[in-house]
Amino acid sequence: AEWRGDAIRRRFLDFYAARGHKILPSSSLVPDDPTVFLTIAGMLQFKPIFLGKEPRRVPCATTSQKCIRTNDIENVGRTSRHQTFFEMLGNFSFGDYFKKDAIKWAWELTTKEYGLPPERLWISVFEDDDEAFSIWLNEVGVPKERIKRMGEDDNFWTSGATGPCGPCSEMYYDFHPERGSLNADLNDDSRFIEFYNLVFMQYNKNDDGSLEPLKQKNIDTGMGLERMARILQNVPNNYETDLIFPIIEKAASMALVSYSTADEAMRTNLKVIGDHMRAVVYLISDGVIPSNIGRGYVVRRLIRRVVRTGRLIGMRGDGHGNSDGAFLPLLAETVISLSSEIDPDVESRRKSILGELQREELRFVQTLGRGEKLLDELLDEALVSAGDDGDKPCLSGKDVFLLYDTYGFPVEITAEIASERGVTVDMKGFDIEMENQRKQSQAAHNVIKLSVGNETEIVKSIPDTEFLGYESLFATAVVKG
Ligand code: ATP
Ligand code: MG
Ligand code: MG
Ligand code: MG
Repeated sequence: AEWRGDAIRRRFLDFYAARGHKILPSSSLVPDDPTVFLTIAGMLQFKPIFLGKEPRRVPCATTSQKCIRTNDIENVGRTSRHQTFFEMLGNFSFGDYFKKDAIKWAWELTTKEYGLPPERLWISVFEDDDEAFSIWLNEVGVPKERIKRMGEDDNFWTSGATGPCGPCSEMYYDFHPERGSLNADLNDDSRFIEFYNLVFMQYNKNDDGSLEPLKQKNIDTGMGLERMARILQNVPNNYETDLIFPIIEKAASMALVSYSTADEAMRTNLKVIGDHMRAVVYLISDGVIPSNIGRGYVVRRLIRRVVRTGRLIGMRGDGHGNSDGAFLPLLAETVISLSSEIDPDVESRRKSILGELQREELRFVQTLGRGEKLLDELLDEALVSAGDDGDKPCLSGKDVFLLYDTYGFPVEITAEIASERGVTVDMKGFDIEMENQRKQSQAAHNVIKLSVGNETEIVKSIPDTEFLGYESLFATAVVKG
């Protein structure tokens, strides 16, 4: 049988509902938590319960959570398994069941419901978690050569710099069992894919990094819906599942190209468009409006990358013969048409989402033309002057800042265009320019205004992400493993 994405999601929720879990809706991409920038995992809406700050309303719950991970932005289209926007299926225990049930149910769901062959499944556990190792080995019956002990980076999960955390155990699918178990590396993207992470959440990480045991032992899990779809639909990457591919096909048809005959570079561009379009539609739907600070800058950067990528592959106009029109709203229509099971509210916000995208695209295109011309000239100069004195061609921090500040070029886009011509960019110099500007306008940035749903909320302690510099800009989501 064909496993459509919607059916995979449904089966997960039903499986845990039949085992006493309450099915709850996804929470917003904008967390109700000033220490977290965007919703990066299903556990966020339950954080106060895990920390004992709020009473549990049910012993256990299950959700399909919309997530954004900006730390994976560079992976989009490059690895087969990362998007910035994805759905995380999860089952959660609030001091109810713990390791043994979590492991047994994960195995039952994976092998009996989804029907994955047991011999294709590999397991990781935290290096000193003998209990989890023994449950997998003795009670589930996974051969010991397919259970790997891994260190903190992979198998100790934290939701941020502070907060609930614990050792975890992950399930991997093996696409190439013929390669044998000798020297098998679970991080090898060409052979394995991690699809389910079981976190044994039993600590709170304090400001000083120390771990304090929580009152209760909890379970927090995450299964990537697109990853399971990719396995069950037998396609080479998450992007070719029914959850994303229609957007790619739409983009391809608007660019008058075909995905199936396209080369790798073109395919990567189409994947970037497919991913980023989902991210921006759901972010705007959750009240994040393009701007130059905080979350708004994430949306702006994603939108601008889609516009630039789209133009690069030949997309122009609004698809109705209006060559000056915006093409994002058309792509967004496809995203919205796939949204009903992901988030039923998106459809009702259609008009404002399309309007926001149209405005932002046209605004960007206006400056893009001038900026591209200038960037071209600056790159020519950099190449010539590097040739003169044998240095590596490099764009100065001042130039990058000028493009950013005056022409609205996100630094990452400048860097991307520059690298296409073999020129690096001086990020340190850029950071210095940014810091100078920041000092001048600090007062204006103490408060970030965000409209969340119908309410307007003032978030005071959100980091000034625009100004933390290139390296830290999108590393706000601290996710180990
Ligand atoms: P990876 O090691 O592949 O980057 P992760 O260990 O960072 O994944 P977790 O934090 O454990 O991921 O999240 C739980 C699950 O969510 C993962 O097992 C995976 O199925 C899914 N997931 C995580 N990041 C992404 C992403 N960028 N795109 C799609 N699915 C993801
Ligand atoms: Mg993981
Ligand atoms: Mg991992
Ligand atoms: Mg990751």
